[in-house]
Amino acid sequence: MAKLDLILLALDPSPILDLMKRTLNAAGYEVAFAHDRPSLDLSIQEAIPALMIVGEKFADQDGFALSSELLERFPTLPIIFYADKDTTGFAKSVIKMGLSGYLYPPLRMDDITDEVKKSLARARKLGDWLRREVRRTTSSLAEKAQISETERTKLEAIIANIQDGVIVMDDNQKILFVNRAIREIFSLDGKELTGKSLKDVVLNEDLKALLVRSSDGPLKYHEINFDDGRVFNAQYTPIPKIGAAVTMQDISYIKELDRLKSDFIHTVSHDLRSPLTAILGYTELIERTGPLNENQYEFLGRLQGSVQHITALVNDLLDLGRLEAGFDTRREAVQLEGVLKYSLDMFDAQVKKKNIILTKDIATDLQPLRANPIRIRQMLDNLLGNAIKYTPDGGSVWVSMSMQDNQIILKVEDTGPGIPAEEQTNVFDKFYRATTAPDGVEGSGLGLAIVKSIVTSHQGRVWVESTLGKGSSFIVILPAQE
Ligand code: ATP
Ligand code: MG
Repeated sequence: MAKLDLILLALDPSPILDLMKRTLNAAGYEVAFAHDRPSLDLSIQEAIPALMIVGEKFADQDGFALSSELLERFPTLPIIFYADKDTTGFAKSVIKMGLSGYLYPPLRMDDITDEVKKSLARARKLGDWLRREVRRTTSSLAEKAQISETERTKLEAIIANIQDGVIVMDDNQKILFVNRAIREIFSLDGKELTGKSLKDVVLNEDLKALLVRSSDGPLKYHEINFDDGRVFNAQYTPIPKIGAAVTMQDISYIKELDRLKSDFIHTVSHDLRSPLTAILGYTELIERTGPLNENQYEFLGRLQGSVQHITALVNDLLDLGRLEAGFDTRREAVQLEGVLKYSLDMFDAQVKKKNIILTKDIATDLQPLRANPIRIRQMLDNLLGNAIKYTPDGGSVWVSMSMQDNQIILKVEDTGPGIPAEEQTNVFDKFYRATTAPDGVEGSGLGLAIVKSIVTSHQGRVWVESTLGKGSSFIVILPAQE
């Protein structure tokens, strides 16, 4: 037999209460009755009524206050309010509070059962709707979960099969995932890797250096070299709430192309040097073979100028080749200030001619560098040479050297034309000349490429900060001698 609906009555004893009990029992409901607040609370908790009838006054409590408290706790419980007298205010309060219905004398038995039936039917409808909604939302959630599960598998398949190596690790650099490419790159086939420390599994020094340096601050690109000649470009990307990912791309062929190109440039430059020396030698000899007329003399001068220019270019190319090949290994203690003095002496005539105001600011605690003095001189010559060359007449150039955390900071600033932001990294490329280089100011675009190679081979960094039309500032950071 189906369980009977339980109606809980919260009314003070009265003939009405008895009438309700009898009527509802007769109509087939189970009826419970609370005579004070504690027994009411207990009944609600244990018996879970299907409906409640609350009197205007119950156990010295105001019926409205009690109803509102009950609705707060059980928002879907239908409550019928009973008042001894019908007033407009009373009906309004019932509606405002969201009660199910109300009763007042004179009361017939039918009035009671009708009101109860109506309230129960509405509550049932509400319950059904709620259940349907819950079912609908949970099923759409399940659907979404299903979709994300397939998406996840798809994503996993993609990552597993791409050519680039992918390592995902947690905050402690323990492996969460590696793809097939990584297993091939590091010859790790078959080994169980999840949960292991990346450093313990992969014994490559470059990768270890990347992990150490990237945890200090994000270091985006890093070359990973292998003994067999392969070179990879690794990228470290922090992933919030997971840890980080390292992706590795095979750049061996690009490196090989770069090497071939450098070799080619080096060979050509080298082979050009001897004929150039010969040309220069003969142009000098011509003068000695007999008197020249004015025109011949002028042309010879131009010829010599051009040959010297090409020779300088060829020498720059040869220098770059040597630097890039890593042949620059000479290291000794170098006092930067001394080298600067020689360099400034060389530019003295040019500075005076252009009326440039040159200021230097050298820290007293400047430590020596461990470096190749010839290369450091070349670096300063190029930076100062550019500042003086590109700054218009009457402009200013500042050179400063200071110490910070055992590093030497060199700054060369000027009031030249500046370099557009989008070209600021390109100016360090071979043969690149900025669009702001004034007409008539000559150059081959190799100076800064040489500077960059020198700084890199001394474990330093160089970059430019510049505002168009205001000037540029080249900054070099080099580690001081230990
Ligand atoms: P080279 O130094 O080989 O004779 P270059 O001076 O043109 O030729 P880089 O020194 O490599 O070559 O400089 C590259 C480009 O960067 C220059 O052509 C110029 O456009 C720009 N540049 C370099 N220094 C400055 C500067 N101080 N102010 C403005 N532009 C500069
Ligand atoms: Mg230059």
